[in-house]
Amino acid sequence: MHIHRDTFKTDKSIAERYYQLGKNLSDCVATYVWIDGTGEHLRCKSRTISTYPKSVEELPEWNFDGSSTGQATGANSDVFLKPVAMYRDPFRMGNCLLVMCETYDNTGRPHATNHRYKCAKVMSKAKTLKPWFGMEQEYTMLDADGQVFGWPKHGFPGPQGPYYCGVGPQKVFARDIVEAHYSACLYAGIQISGTNAETMPGQWEYQVGPCEGIEMGDQLCMSRFILHRVAEDFGVTITLDPKPIPGDWNGAGCHTNFSTEEMRQDGGYKAIEAAIARLEKAHQTHIGYYDPQGGRDNERRLTGQHETASINEFSAGVASRAVSIRIPAQTFKDQKGYFEDRRPSSNCDPYAVTGAIIRTCCLNERRLSRCYGSSSEEFIEVTKELSISPKTEATAVTSKHEDNASSCGTQ
Ligand code: ADP
Ligand code: MN
Ligand code: MN
Ligand code: MN
Repeated sequence: MHIHRDTFKTDKSIAERYYQLGKNLSDCVATYVWIDGTGEHLRCKSRTISTYPKSVEELPEWNFDGSSTGQATGANSDVFLKPVAMYRDPFRMGNCLLVMCETYDNTGRPHATNHRYKCAKVMSKAKTLKPWFGMEQEYTMLDADGQVFGWPKHGFPGPQGPYYCGVGPQKVFARDIVEAHYSACLYAGIQISGTNAETMPGQWEYQVGPCEGIEMGDQLCMSRFILHRVAEDFGVTITLDPKPIPGDWNGAGCHTNFSTEEMRQDGGYKAIEAAIARLEKAHQTHIGYYDPQGGRDNERRLTGQHETASINEFSAGVASRAVSIRIPAQTFKDQKGYFEDRRPSSNCDPYAVTGAIIRTCCLNERRLSRCYGSSSEEFIEVTKELSISPKTEATAVTSKHEDNASSCGTQ
């Protein structure tokens, strides 16, 4: 049963009076943002900070009720927030901040959904290689009824073809949101590098990057928060579901472009080929890291149709969009540059994705613990073991599972 409403919106002209108050204040309000128990959705809460922080380290740790976010039980519900990156707040403006946070349980261990902890360690090991990422975030807009924004209420729009990079009212919907999000990201200090309308009407993309190391995950997460927050003002819902409409409609991915300094220099093509060879051997493992369900979400999207390659087979090619890894034509021509991993789903955890790429391509690790195709119980156990105590990090980084190579970890 749908409750029919035109919009979720309140009257923004009334709200504007109060937003004006905020703009003239010198106080610093910090909005802490974190990934919740789904491993996908974001939560936030705000607090007034007494002195404006010079760096993120000066921001206080905080906590929240993890029993309300799927991150703790009621009896032991405190989850801790550790600020890790801060941005200018494009909503409150003035001295206000958006703060990306990691989550820790009350014994000081990174929460199972805190993939940033591991990612940051991996990135520091690979720092001298100067790894750059650029992620292409595809997303779909839904109206108040939960249907794709701009689609007819009964039936479907005309088949795909005219919508990708389209212009005009029959081709693209809600560009206002896209433009507002773009400006808000620039204001915040996010390296948003472009945007385009997608193949399915109501679907859009923006790109963030190139970002070095851990910044990729931080910036992409905050850009997603800003997107949901902007869309909230317009009464539109953003979904990052990788296949929102089954059938002959494109799904949504989060293509991840990658290079190291060596790949960007003359003759870097050899290093690109070497990295792709390693990714081929670790295909199933990587699928395990490329959506929050260990590959289950991507099953609906990576069908081998609609500009994707099959989830079950690895492939690579120059300029092809029906492959797992695409080498841009320019990279082939220059014999240097970057490559594109087309497998990550739109709702992927960017820390899990970029961490896995570095471990396989740069650190030559062959025993990543996740693996697509393993039983769900095994998957949960592995996730638990990834909770590493920061106090005993030296010993804890290698979990038991990672020692006992999983069936596809050594392929
Ligand atoms: P596509 O042709 O696949 O649609 P896009 O233009 O949407 O490509 O996205 C390309 C992404 O690659 C951007 O996020 C950009 O920042 C990133 N990028 C560009 N150069 C590099 C590089 N050398 N290393 C990593 N990422 C890069
Ligand atoms: Mn793109
Ligand atoms: Mn795209
Ligand atoms: Mn792409």
